[in-house]
Amino acid sequence: KENVMKKPAWLKQRVCNDAVYNQVRSLITGLHLHTVCESADCPNIGECFGHQTATFLILGGTCTRACRYCAVPKGRPEAVHTGEPQNLAEAALHLGLKHIVITSVTRDDLPHGGAEQFAACIQAVRKSSPETTIEVLIPDFKGSLTAMNIVLQAEPTVLNHNIETVPRLFPAIRPIADYRQSLAVLKYAAAYKPLPLIKSGIMVGLGETPEELQRAFEDLYRTGVRILTIGQYLRPSPQHVPVAEYISPEDFAAYKQMAEAIGFPHVISGPLVRSSYRAGLMVQECLPQ
Ligand code: SF4
Ligand code: SF4
Repeated sequence: KENVMKKPAWLKQRVCNDAVYNQVRSLITGLHLHTVCESADCPNIGECFGHQTATFLILGGTCTRACRYCAVPKGRPEAVHTGEPQNLAEAALHLGLKHIVITSVTRDDLPHGGAEQFAACIQAVRKSSPETTIEVLIPDFKGSLTAMNIVLQAEPTVLNHNIETVPRLFPAIRPIADYRQSLAVLKYAAAYKPLPLIKSGIMVGLGETPEELQRAFEDLYRTGVRILTIGQYLRPSPQHVPVAEYISPEDFAAYKQMAEAIGFPHVISGPLVRSSYRAGLMVQECLPQ
């Protein structure tokens, strides 16, 4: 049925500025880097590349997990590229990024899930662009506190880990992940000193109920999350899990109110919101001026 479900008008994507897009793209490709913007077919690519913002996907472009909503290619991952932190730092410098988001495919094959590469990337970017705020969007590292310590010791500005959906839908949507483990990861980061900004995100339109969302928001708030993103799930291809519902802009506004009533000071909620959408603006709001 979903195949014939028409995308509502509010999901129409903005046209991309080809010149800027091509310029950013050739820089990224030339440095052998991957972006989530491209790998995950993000609907905001025109807007974000136009503002010279991108989310970098480190540790290769192939994931060891197979979440049923995600367009990142799955399979045998590539060898870790030792020059990646330096290339990333160069890209951040050339693009003049004020805020950089660094994420990775999940590398269950690596010791500590590749946490060392996250730390090396944070350090390399900080060295070449000291004013740039750095957000890491981490996998769950299978709950490894050693991996968490490696990343946190590098002192990212923002520690982001998405729960993606409500606990009931985890087995169907995120079969290898665990809701409680994701909360534990966030809780650990929220107790770390120096404390980074703690952020998480969720997709809606997968069949969750408002009551389930309310409970998930409460769980996130209790763990110490203070920045929350809420966006519409969009099916990347017919092989991926279908959209259960297109949530209206009015309902997104209601979800934002729901989260704010729980206490979240920073909520971005809307059909095209992704975890890194307007991430830089959000951080500017949070940091003391
Ligand atoms: Fe890239 Fe994030 Fe923007 Fe999407 S929202 S295009 S992933 S920076
Ligand atoms: Fe995609 Fe992340 Fe799941 Fe890998 S772990 S399939 S990158 S959502």
